[in-house]
Amino acid sequence: MTALPAIAGGRPQRNRFLHYARHSVDEDDIRNVEKVLRSAWLTTGPELEGFEENLSSFLGSDFVVAMSSGTAALHATMAMLNLNPGDEVLMPAITFVATANCVLYCGATPVFVDVNPDSLLIDMEDVKNKITENTKAVIAMDYAGQPTNYQILQNICCKNNIRFIVDCCHSLGAKYKDKPVGQYADFSIFSFHPAKSIACGEGGAVATNSLEYAEALRMFRNHGIDSDFVTRRKHGVTKYDMTELGYNYRLSEIHSALGNSQLKRLPEFLERRQKIATYYDCLLEKTVGVQVLVCNEDVVHANHLYVIKLDLSLINVSRDEILSALHAEGIGVNVHYAPVYTHSYYKNISLDSECKVTDSVYQQILSLPIYPGMTDADVKDVVAALDKVITYFRR
Ligand SMILES: *Cc1c(COP(=O)(O)O)cnc(C)c1O
Repeated sequence: MTALPAIAGGRPQRNRFLHYARHSVDEDDIRNVEKVLRSAWLTTGPELEGFEENLSSFLGSDFVVAMSSGTAALHATMAMLNLNPGDEVLMPAITFVATANCVLYCGATPVFVDVNPDSLLIDMEDVKNKITENTKAVIAMDYAGQPTNYQILQNICCKNNIRFIVDCCHSLGAKYKDKPVGQYADFSIFSFHPAKSIACGEGGAVATNSLEYAEALRMFRNHGIDSDFVTRRKHGVTKYDMTELGYNYRLSEIHSALGNSQLKRLPEFLERRQKIATYYDCLLEKTVGVQVLVCNEDVVHANHLYVIKLDLSLINVSRDEILSALHAEGIGVNVHYAPVYTHSYYKNISLDSECKVTDSVYQQILSLPIYPGMTDADVKDVVAALDKVITYFRR
């Protein structure tokens, strides 16, 4: 006889709720932010400059332009493409809404591409199917922290004369063919939201190897003005000219300072995430009704998410009922993500969205808690609760 799950009146696995993600801020982080608060610069100063330099050497990309969020970085990237109404940008249907919203900001049309059922990365055959004469770019998304097959996608983009962009918001620290993500695509976009690999509070960045684009991105984040305050002061001028329509997407010194000290800790974060993922792999081998995602060869995974697929042929309830049952156990599982086209806003603008694999795999996915501060005992709790709940709901 197995234990009764909490949702059916049994004792929950945990008393203290385990969240699916959590930032890790230590005393060094706090000291670095405090130093800025006591300084003369609260925005656009040495911490920002340092953060961009440190990121660009970590990623091995020529230029990094930091922004106030990953969404701002996506918007700025789309603005570089000079999109017109009717232009199409391809992306996987399973991604965060911001990947698609940035295309709408620029008046163009997001086109949703099916995902590979084993990795949940963009499906290359469906990319080819969905390219039309209106396609201007593809935004791949490194789901859960696994790099997309950049080589194949780059070839497709090159042959069709379209831009190759990667939403790397999950994959900071991942590698593709021994090199960090962030140096392969025309533009690679990062986020430093607290749930991501490193936290700025809010923050983002675009990595590119083009000096021209880096300069245009810097202008875009500063209202479209052709110089910034610090540069003008250095040269003793006060006059400036706004030559393009831009935004205020600057990252403050306070956020940059946190980003800088977090970036130093990234290797340690990645190592811990990898250990947790390996431990899950090992414990879940024995769990009936659970499949883990496939990791391709020649990549190093950033383990941003740990996603499982439920084998619904063995379970007599839906994924959402399993999710509720796990919450009752004190385990904060989550779903990444509902297909973008299932959101009301996207339904209302009725975009074409034929993605059969996406529709079915979405019913199965569940993200288990993973973050650097998690202990091995926490991992065991998750798997024990999952075992208990699935056993109870076995067909
Ligand atoms: C977090 C995230 C974003 C948006 O980043 P913000 O910094 O929260 O604006 C975009 N795309 C993906 C895949 C993300 O995970």
